[in-house]
Amino acid sequence: MPLDRKPAPNDLRAFWMPFTANRQFKSAPRMLVASKDMHYTTSDGRQVLDGTAGLWCCNAGHCRPRITEAVQAQVGELDYAPAFQMGHPLAFELANRLVDIAPDGMEHVFYCNSGSEAVDTALKIALAYHRARGDAARTRLIGRERGYHGVGFGGISVGGIVNNRRHFGTLLAGVDHMPHTHLPENVFTKGQPEHGANLADELERIVALHGAETIAAVIVEPMAGSTGVLMPPKGYLEKLRAITKKHGILLIFDEVITGFGRLGSPFAAQHFGVVPDMITCAKGLTNGVIPMGAVLASAQIHDAFMQGPEHIIELFHGYTYSGNPISCAAAIATLDTYAEEGLLTRAAGLETYWQEAIHSLRDHPNVVDIRNMGLIGAVELSPIDGQPGKRGFDMFVKAFEAGILIRVTGDIIAMSPPLIISEAQIDELIGTLGDVLKTA
Ligand code: PLP
Repeated sequence: MPLDRKPAPNDLRAFWMPFTANRQFKSAPRMLVASKDMHYTTSDGRQVLDGTAGLWCCNAGHCRPRITEAVQAQVGELDYAPAFQMGHPLAFELANRLVDIAPDGMEHVFYCNSGSEAVDTALKIALAYHRARGDAARTRLIGRERGYHGVGFGGISVGGIVNNRRHFGTLLAGVDHMPHTHLPENVFTKGQPEHGANLADELERIVALHGAETIAAVIVEPMAGSTGVLMPPKGYLEKLRAITKKHGILLIFDEVITGFGRLGSPFAAQHFGVVPDMITCAKGLTNGVIPMGAVLASAQIHDAFMQGPEHIIELFHGYTYSGNPISCAAAIATLDTYAEEGLLTRAAGLETYWQEAIHSLRDHPNVVDIRNMGLIGAVELSPIDGQPGKRGFDMFVKAFEAGILIRVTGDIIAMSPPLIISEAQIDELIGTLGDVLKTA
């Protein structure tokens, strides 16, 4: 229907909402109008406890003064600076700050505006890196079933979430996928599962099939978030690292969710003690306040580009808003907040409390698995016959009405609260979810 008049502010037709059942939402909207620390305020004046850090991004909670003030000040001081062939100090300061907290070996930062752009940037750097070294046959990219790497064409090509791929044609050629790491023998495991390290050997099979000399990079989420929180089995990431190294294949960790303290270390790479060649991040980089993403790269990768005549651009890639001043100001204030409040490691101290709380839901109706690590967790429900996703969505709506924000992927409930959550708030979150689950 054309918009034949100036729409009223509460006219919901024009906004085509992302990853949303638009017609369902618009028939019963769930509107947020304010936020502070651990809570959202709804349009009908209710307080909702944030069990998901927004969309896995507000790791320090909401409307934190340092970040708000830094953004406000920066908008009035230097609102925008060209990103190409020009610089501004905050972009350099932030890069150094990120390298400081990144795993040893990550020495350079390339900026973008989202997790999706970070992924596509990392994939392009991987391809161009091999070319820069004269290894141009390495063009193949390997992802994993159930992986989520955003929504760009690179990201959905290496991604393994079927609905995100199936509507969009043939995608990138020359992509293969390893199996996911969700094994029935690991159900209800607390923390990192025991079984499944050998799933990494599937990479050897793919290498044997295509030839290592054709493979540029492997990309995985060290802990798969969006698909419904799948942990890496013990020893799995170590094996992936060993196999990629052996064959000269780059390893990319997509840390868009796990970056900035989610598992109790600044990055999952440090938590698991496995260092990749590149890390993608976004979300918690600015506490979700301003869009920003980044690729952290090793010196080996960066230095491979720094050759040839010095006036020639080394990497033909970048965005108008790469490292824009407002994002950089937000990110620096975010890192300050994380440091002041010890948030990059706080999840480690709360992990056991969180684990016991979430596993207390085990005997609720239709719960078939519970998974947890750091301050992240999932409760998997059995689907209603013939209506996959319905039970999960019903729980999501009921939870929201009961005063907690959770997230569902199909019939999997995922939670990743801000890292400032208290034990009492964990009790409230899980207690309310438990009440809701009694109706599952
Ligand atoms: N990669 C991972 C692992 C993610 O979880 C996400 C978003 O959830 C993305 C990439 C995409 O990030 P964005 O939505 O900022 O493009």
